[in-house]
Amino acid sequence: MTLFHALQQTLGNQHVLTDADAAPYLTDWRGRYTGNAVAVVRPGNTEEVAAVMRLCAEHGAPVVPQGGNTGLVGGATPDASGKAVVISLARMNRVRQVDTDNDTMTVEAGCVLQTLQGVARDANRLFPLSLAAEGSCMIGGNLATNAGGTQVLRYGNTRELTLGLEVVTPQGEIWNGLRGLRKDNTGYDLRDLYIGSEGTLGIITAATLRLYPLPVARCTALLALKSVPDAVTVLSRARAGFGASLTGFELMSSACLELVTRIYPQQRLPLEGPVEQHAWYALLELSDNESEAHARERFEAVLGAALEDDLVQDAAIAENLSQSHAMWHLRESIPLAQAEEGKNIKHDVSIPISRIADFVATTDAALQVHFPGVRNITFGHLGDGNLHYNVQGSRGEAEAQLLARQDDIYLLVHDSVHAFEGSISAEHGVGQLKRDELLRYKSDVEVRLMQRVKQALDPQGLMNPGKTVQDGSA
Ligand SMILES: Cc1cc2nc3c(=O)[nH]c(=O)nc-3n(C[C@H](O)[C@H](O)[C@H](O)COP(=O)(O)OP(=O)(O)OC[C@H]3O[C@@H](n4cnc5c(N)ncnc54)[C@H](O)[C@@H]3O)c2cc1C
Repeated sequence: MTLFHALQQTLGNQHVLTDADAAPYLTDWRGRYTGNAVAVVRPGNTEEVAAVMRLCAEHGAPVVPQGGNTGLVGGATPDASGKAVVISLARMNRVRQVDTDNDTMTVEAGCVLQTLQGVARDANRLFPLSLAAEGSCMIGGNLATNAGGTQVLRYGNTRELTLGLEVVTPQGEIWNGLRGLRKDNTGYDLRDLYIGSEGTLGIITAATLRLYPLPVARCTALLALKSVPDAVTVLSRARAGFGASLTGFELMSSACLELVTRIYPQQRLPLEGPVEQHAWYALLELSDNESEAHARERFEAVLGAALEDDLVQDAAIAENLSQSHAMWHLRESIPLAQAEEGKNIKHDVSIPISRIADFVATTDAALQVHFPGVRNITFGHLGDGNLHYNVQGSRGEAEAQLLARQDDIYLLVHDSVHAFEGSISAEHGVGQLKRDELLRYKSDVEVRLMQRVKQALDPQGLMNPGKTVQDGSA
C-alpha cells in the first residue's frame, strides 16, 4: 500500500489534505518559502500522531510538524521534493487539565496561544506568554521554537513556563513526560532538549505549563527618548525600582512608529507633536500584586525621576485598560506594518544589554557605508537584550533589488552581532533561513554535539530535514 493510502486509512480521507486544501500549509507566513508534500495530515490525538510517525518511518518519508504556521524562519515549510508529510497539530486542541493548586495547565499542542491565555484567566490565573502572533500561533509551535515575546523580562521564555511534555518520537513511540513538578533531577532533561528543537527531534503533542497569579493592577506608559543609551539607563532604573514587577520594556525607533501610523492612520501616538521629533520610544509596563494605588505610586516615582534627569523627553501614562491596549497595539503592529510596506530583511538578535547601544550605533553606520539609503526598522524586547534589527529597502527601491543584497546584509549584521558577543537568533529559531549561518558562528565542537544528539534521536534523519541542524556526519 502506498504511504498516501495508508495515511488515509489511518486518519480518514477528510484529514489527509492535498492540492488546494493543502496549499495554505505549504507556504510560510512571510511568503518566502513554498514547498510540496505527499499530503498534509491532521491527526486528532497522540495515538494518531504516533501511527502517522510509524508509517512515515516505514516508508522513509520526511516529516514536517506544523502549528499555526506563523514562524518567521521557514521552519514549518517542507522542501520542494514533494516527499514529506506535513503533520498539522491543529486538531489537537484540547485542554486536558487545569490544576489551580499546582498552578499548572496541561494542554495539547494545537491549542492557540490566545485561547490558553483565556483558559488561564477563566481560572483566575495568568499564562504570561504573549506575542503579536498569539491569535494564530499554537503552543506546540511556541514550545518547538522556545518562543519569547513581550513578558520574558519577568516570566522567561516558553522553556521557563514549561514543566512537562508529551512527545512522539520519530520511531512512533509516545513519551509521557507530563510531570507537573518544579523539582525533578532524575537524569538528562529530555524536556529541555525538545523545547526549541524546531521539530527536528520529535513531535510535541502536549505540555504541562506553569500558571501565575493574575496581577491586581497594571501601569503602562509610552516614553519618548533621545537615544538608546538613555533607554538602557531608564531600563536599569526601572529594574531597580520595580524589581519583579517590571513586566515590559519594549524599545522602538521613531521609524517604526512612523511606519505604523502611516500604514494604519487610525492608530495615533498619545503624545504631542510629530513622531519624528523623538528618535526613540519605549513601552514600559509594571504589574502589581497589591493595588492600583501602590502600582501608580511606584510607577510615577521612577518615571518622575527619569523625566527630571532628562532621560525621558516626554511620557504618556495609560489612564485605563483601553489606553494601555492602544499603546501595546502600536508596538504589536510594527511587524504587520513592515509586511505591508514590502519585503524586508529581518534580524532577530540578542546582545548583552550593556553593549546594545554600541551595537546599534556601529551597525547602523556600517550599513549606511555599504548599503546607502537602507532604512533601519529597529524594535524589540530591550529588557531581554533582544532586538528585531530589521532592514527595509531605501524609499522607492524595488523589492528584488533589496533581496539581491540580502545575503550581504545578513553577513554584515550577523558578523557585527558576533563581534558584540550576541546571538543571531534570539527567539525566532533557525529554520531554513539561518541554518547555514549557524555553522559560521557556532564552534565546531558545538555543531558536532548538536549533530550527535540529532543522530541519536533521529537516526533515519526524517524529522524536519534541512532545518536548524545540518544532518549527518557526526
Ligand atoms: C506578527 C508576528 C509576530 C511574532 N512575534 C514573535 C515574538 O514576539 N516572539 C517570538 O518568539 N516569536 C514571534 N513570532 C514568531 C512565531 O509566532 C513564533 O515562532 C511561534 O512560536 C510559532 O508558533 P506556530 O504555532 O506558528 O509554529 P509554526 O510556524 O507552525 O512552526 C514553527 C516551528 O516549530 C515546529 N513545530 C510546530 N509545532 C510543532 C510540534 N507540535 N512539535 C514539534 N515541532 C513543531 C515547526 O516544524 C517549525 O520548525 C512572530 C510571528 C509573527 C507572524
